[in-house]
Amino acid sequence: MQFISTRGKNQPVSSARAIYQGLATDGGLFLPNSIPQLTLSDIEALGAMSYSERASYIIGKFLTDYTTEELNYATGSAYAQQNFPKQAAPVVNIDTQYSVLELWHGKTSAFKDMALQILPYLLTIAMKKEQIDKQVLILVATSGDTGKAALEGFQDVPGTRIVVFYPQDGVSDIQKLQMATQAGENVHVFAVRGNFDDTQTGVKNIFSNPEMSEQIAALGYQFSSANSINWGRLVPQIVYYFSAYVDLVQDKVINLGDQVNFCVPTGNFGNILAGYYAKCMGLPVNKFICASNANNVLTDFINQGVYDRNRPFYQTNSPSMDILISSNLERFLYLISGGNAELINGYMSELNAEGRYAISPELLSKVQAEMSAYSYDGTQTCREIMDVYKNKHYLLDTHTAVAYKAAEDYRTQTGDKTHTVILSTASPFKFSADVLLSLEQDIKGLNSFEQNRLLSNISGQGIPERIAQLETATVRHQDVINKEEMFQAIKSIL
Ligand SMILES: *Cc1c(COP(=O)(O)O)cnc(C)c1O
Repeated sequence: MQFISTRGKNQPVSSARAIYQGLATDGGLFLPNSIPQLTLSDIEALGAMSYSERASYIIGKFLTDYTTEELNYATGSAYAQQNFPKQAAPVVNIDTQYSVLELWHGKTSAFKDMALQILPYLLTIAMKKEQIDKQVLILVATSGDTGKAALEGFQDVPGTRIVVFYPQDGVSDIQKLQMATQAGENVHVFAVRGNFDDTQTGVKNIFSNPEMSEQIAALGYQFSSANSINWGRLVPQIVYYFSAYVDLVQDKVINLGDQVNFCVPTGNFGNILAGYYAKCMGLPVNKFICASNANNVLTDFINQGVYDRNRPFYQTNSPSMDILISSNLERFLYLISGGNAELINGYMSELNAEGRYAISPELLSKVQAEMSAYSYDGTQTCREIMDVYKNKHYLLDTHTAVAYKAAEDYRTQTGDKTHTVILSTASPFKFSADVLLSLEQDIKGLNSFEQNRLLSNISGQGIPERIAQLETATVRHQDVINKEEMFQAIKSIL
């Protein structure tokens, strides 16, 4: 299978090349030139497999230049029990209407581990295949969770260095501490004065600047990306949609062939796009529900057909979704427009120049046939945490709460009774302060760890071990830089 660019000007490349290069040279995003198809009996057969085996099967459909041994090694290592002590992606059935797919049982307690535990394997195998003699230099812009998950994934991986940039005041205390305490000889972390879009734009500008790439190449490095613009980040996320589906069949919540809805707390549009790929491959999905916080640019786009980033940027209590430019929407538009690269080029230059573009009514109706969209502010998010805890005895983090509310409102407003899977993207212990406030607890004077203990006492749930350990971990990274200094910072560590 070959990989092409959403902007249409990149020669098709192998999956190995798409993965180590990250971004296409024409500025577009790589995607496969065809979509593999699974029958219902292929899907049924996944039921008997472990999560690693399911991953080898699905990922192997796209990475056709990887051998079975290479894929099995990658998935077996990434989803080993030491990385996911409980299960990689368990489904919790709440009632006859809703199930929750818990994607946060990895090392950093956020769903980013699902992809970032395996990406280093896919990447280093790709480098070997393509006989790249350079070291790979991973640049990450993070709104909180990607950074830590990427640091964990790449820590001390031979042939790699990783540099993470995060918005100084745009992440939670626990997220900041998770990154600041990261061990490893090849890891570097910088706080940037600015918001997430500033840091993401900074990283994108470095990637698309040939002069900077040359300077880095002269030092023996080749840039790559661990953000969800990288196909190697996206493809592992397709797996858990299939995995959840076959688990629901095994739990007898649905019958094989029944449709389900997926409701996804969304920021950069990577997670929900992976779900759309699963549907295109043959997974029986009725609707995707795209859930956003007060940064509701996607909600407006899906409801009205105008993408307009000219709006206030809010720091919310679901910080990993505080985004105004959702990179992966570009891939979705490419797919839904039937591969119209010219159209995508037009939208993206309008977005660059004016911060806005509008799609045609025909294209909008195709978008709406696949997706519905809802957004909620912080107060509504907190109320939802309380409601679900009280009524269903299930503890939500702030991101998942946004999605839970969207799933409920979608059901009420449309009358669609399809069983709905809510993707849970973070452990509540990663956002204890807001979860406790939602449960009307007094947290005055409590530090993050005391808050976690309080939350654990109330809910009866254990604190994820690696979050508890942060209390005594050594802080190793304290640099704060301006957004204009990101390239300088990179050069300073090489
Ligand atoms: C990254 C993240 C999201 C958003 O996922 P996208 O793939 O960027 O849409 C949602 N919730 C949490 C907790 C995250 O870390």
